[in-house]
Amino acid sequence: MEKASVIVIGGGILGTSVAYHLASQGHKDVLLLERRDLATASSSQAAGLMFQVSSKPAVDQLSRRTFNVFPELEAITGEALDFKSVGTLRLAEGDEHRESLTNLYTRAREEGLRANKVDELWRKDHLPWLRTARDALAVFFPDEGYIDPYRLTSAYAKAARSYGAKIKTGTSVLSIKQDKGAIVGVDTNEGTILCDKVVVAGGSWSNQLTMPLGVALPMIPTRSHFWIAAPDKNFSDNQPMLVHADAGAYTRPEVGGLLLGVQEERSRTFDFRRLPEDILSFAVTEEGTEWDALIEAESRVSSFFPGLENARFESYMAGLSAYTPDGHFILGQADPVSGLYVAAGCCGSGVMASGGIGEALAEVVITGRSNYDLSAFAPQRFGAIDPVSEDFQNQCAKARARKSK
Ligand SMILES: Cc1cc2nc3c(=O)[nH]c(=O)nc-3n(C[C@H](O)[C@H](O)[C@H](O)COP(=O)(O)OP(=O)(O)OC[C@H]3O[C@@H](n4cnc5c(N)ncnc54)[C@H](O)[C@@H]3O)c2cc1C
Repeated sequence: MEKASVIVIGGGILGTSVAYHLASQGHKDVLLLERRDLATASSSQAAGLMFQVSSKPAVDQLSRRTFNVFPELEAITGEALDFKSVGTLRLAEGDEHRESLTNLYTRAREEGLRANKVDELWRKDHLPWLRTARDALAVFFPDEGYIDPYRLTSAYAKAARSYGAKIKTGTSVLSIKQDKGAIVGVDTNEGTILCDKVVVAGGSWSNQLTMPLGVALPMIPTRSHFWIAAPDKNFSDNQPMLVHADAGAYTRPEVGGLLLGVQEERSRTFDFRRLPEDILSFAVTEEGTEWDALIEAESRVSSFFPGLENARFESYMAGLSAYTPDGHFILGQADPVSGLYVAAGCCGSGVMASGGIGEALAEVVITGRSNYDLSAFAPQRFGAIDPVSEDFQNQCAKARARKSK
């Protein structure tokens, strides 16, 4: 019978990063199983925004590792990742948002990151379609940027293979097997594979794998979406990303055009039991309603971004991200099953934090502990939960609506 020492389930950005870090830290017989192809679910849909600093310091420690992993992967694979280091302009006008941005600025400077306050002239020069109050608080973080998540996933996979990890696509895990509370293997469409450790990195489907073991992961598949405006003289690929707290919106360049995401009053959530395997065939948004959330946000967006009034928004991308009630990931050993680990509940930041998540999980699997502080991400931190109840779905939808980039 086939055997591995550790099986990683899921070939998205988190599974491939975990496999890379396990193999590069010297773990032998790492096997990653993906039922479709690599990066064919959420990891092919992300906007790929990468921040060094956010309102969640626990997440930031993981994201910083991702920035450091780029040169490492490029050296191993011999392929450029093409990280677009355009920087982020963060803007705040209202008192509450100013206070948050001031805190972010102070923390960034204390932690040795580059962050500069910029004036109205600078703003007009860099983002001509933007209108801001003269005294708005505006901070530019020059070292942030965005990356193609598909390319990053492929690089993790290629680097994992170079360290000896095996990756099998087209292999579906039907169930995880345990005996007397300890992992003993997985059943797949190609037969049983024995192992004593399993890392579940199955994205929005993770609860399908852990619930039969009595482990309910505190997360709900939640809709994330953005719109893309066609190329225009107002846009350029050198423009910074923008996070506008009062507009509840973010933008980044998109091959001569502009990608725009907006916060919603209530994000759409889904029952994990009803998700099909092929997410691209699934109507995360019903046909004909692709523009509803943008129309809902129109008044606040157009008052801050008057230059976008005539922009031609032509494309729409919607996918799933698994959200938890507190917006923190689910990482680590999943009690009470010995040998079961989870890297899930990505809360729309899985690309950005993938390097740290992979490294931290590998450390926990190999040594039982991590050099990262993972206490905010403990899988059991909410106690017993029901991941299909309406109340729990509402809690996670609120976390999505509260999320600021
Ligand atoms: C529209 C949108 C915009 C986003 N923007 C950003 C952003 O700007 N920055 C950012 O950091 N993040 C962003 N995200 C979030 C990001 O995409 C996710 O955090 C990340 O892709 C999650 O990766 P994953 O590996 O957990 O999941 P996935 O990529 O969904 O991978 C899970 C994999 O597990 C496989 N799988 C599941 N069950 C099984 C099974 N039983 N057997 C075998 N394989 C199985 C699936 O086929 C799938 O390939 C965005 C997401 C969306 C949808």
